[in-house]
Amino acid sequence: MNSHMVKRLPVDTGRSGWEAISTRGFPLQTLESDVRADWLIIGAGFAGLSAARKLSQLTPGDKIVVVDATEVAKSTAGRNSGYMIDVPHNLSSGEYSVADEKATALEIEQNRLAISFAAEAATEYGMSKETFDPSGKINAAATERGLSLNKNYGSSLRRIGEKHELLDLKQMREITGSDYYLGGLYTPGAVMIQPADYIRGLARGLLPRIELFEHSPVLELTRQGKDWKARSTRGTFTAPKVILAVNGHVESFGYFRRRLMHIFTYASMTAAFSPDEFGGRVTGAERWALLPADPMGATVRKISTGSRSRIVIRTRFTYNPSLDVSAKRVAEVAVEQRQSFNARFPALERVPFEFSWAGALCLSRNHVPAFGEVEEGLYSACCENGLGTVKSTFAGMMAAELATNTASRTLEKYKAQPMPRRLPPEPLARLGINAVIRWQELRAGREG
Ligand SMILES: Cc1cc2nc3c(=O)[nH]c(=O)nc-3n(C[C@H](O)[C@H](O)[C@H](O)COP(=O)(O)OP(=O)(O)OC[C@H]3O[C@@H](n4cnc5c(N)ncnc54)[C@H](O)[C@@H]3O)c2cc1C
Repeated sequence: MNSHMVKRLPVDTGRSGWEAISTRGFPLQTLESDVRADWLIIGAGFAGLSAARKLSQLTPGDKIVVVDATEVAKSTAGRNSGYMIDVPHNLSSGEYSVADEKATALEIEQNRLAISFAAEAATEYGMSKETFDPSGKINAAATERGLSLNKNYGSSLRRIGEKHELLDLKQMREITGSDYYLGGLYTPGAVMIQPADYIRGLARGLLPRIELFEHSPVLELTRQGKDWKARSTRGTFTAPKVILAVNGHVESFGYFRRRLMHIFTYASMTAAFSPDEFGGRVTGAERWALLPADPMGATVRKISTGSRSRIVIRTRFTYNPSLDVSAKRVAEVAVEQRQSFNARFPALERVPFEFSWAGALCLSRNHVPAFGEVEEGLYSACCENGLGTVKSTFAGMMAAELATNTASRTLEKYKAQPMPRRLPPEPLARLGINAVIRWQELRAGREG
């Protein structure tokens, strides 16, 4: 008998602004009894709900159950900055330029399949442009080094035939209203989502076809005969096939131990403000989305609903193998974020941050997912390497294909990836990873 006690449950520190301003629109059900299904998906984020959607297409009539420890959109899926990016975006490499053209072509193909899959769901479930906006994104540069990173990135995109446009200081000022940026690089293929609205829209759209249980953490997973039994607080789930869609928490279930890097990143969202109060153009266009030219810099987004706008800023990375960060840490980072924000928008100095929060990423040293059949009937669609809106969507789609023996060229290529490479032992890993992050953050300087 294979039995796995779940060592840690997700801890989501600080309330996500995206979740706070999103409406839910479907009932909340927790597990109160024993439930049997054909499929159990653990985790209702991008991977879990995408796996559920794909399974519902591949196995019409099967009973599909999705379970989450918290509530849809309250965990990381509703805490991110909402960039669904098609072009290469490797956070850990220090820059975005394309090194291996063949691998990049495959990565772009996979990212675009995931974005198309999400776009179909967005259309089918009637998501608005505020929720799912194919606007593209800008890599913004605030330093000479940032400009040079953008230039290199642009050259490598040109080499592989990817559309992009370099923007100058004046264009950046027109878009953002800020004098902070020296230039930018626009790529058109990114979709900007309101992450909490998107993930809730996906869950709501799937509900007629799936059963969803929230606030129902899986505490133990046991193989019993041909089934897997998942024990939760007030009941059990039994199913012959289970998909683990818990990102870094796959390690809490006992898999991919010492192979995954648990990195936290942090965000703050302003209170809603009326741009007119500050002289109209101080925050530029109605909505825009900036990634940093240096991956360790600040991600900054403006959203508008009616005449009110908000700005969201994401900065910093910390290595937290305990999969937990404190409220104190979130507050400390929010103070730094305030400085970054004020430097960009001095006229908005008095607009407070209404929400500050943190969320977990899972990275592997060799930039591969924790994917595959880890035991008979138990599949992993985990470790999104920092870009889960797209990569976890794709992992969920691929896990559904793998678990239903659906042969595809795409799955063959995805399956062929190596295992996440082992981490060095502690305390070496902690010292090494923190030192690299800190050095790269300091090097990013004004980009952060
Ligand atoms: C501030 C911030 C900004 C980000 N910005 C971006 C961005 O712009 N673009 C991008 O692509 N990515 C971004 N990310 C990363 C992105 O949010 C994640 O990659 C994505 O959420 C991963 O999706 P997932 O489905 O794999 O995992 P998750 O979204 O983490 O979903 C896993 C689910 O599993 C559940 N779970 C875990 N353990 C259990 C258990 N024992 N029992 C039941 N349920 C369990 C959790 O509650 C959770 O809901 C950002 C992250 C943060 C924190």
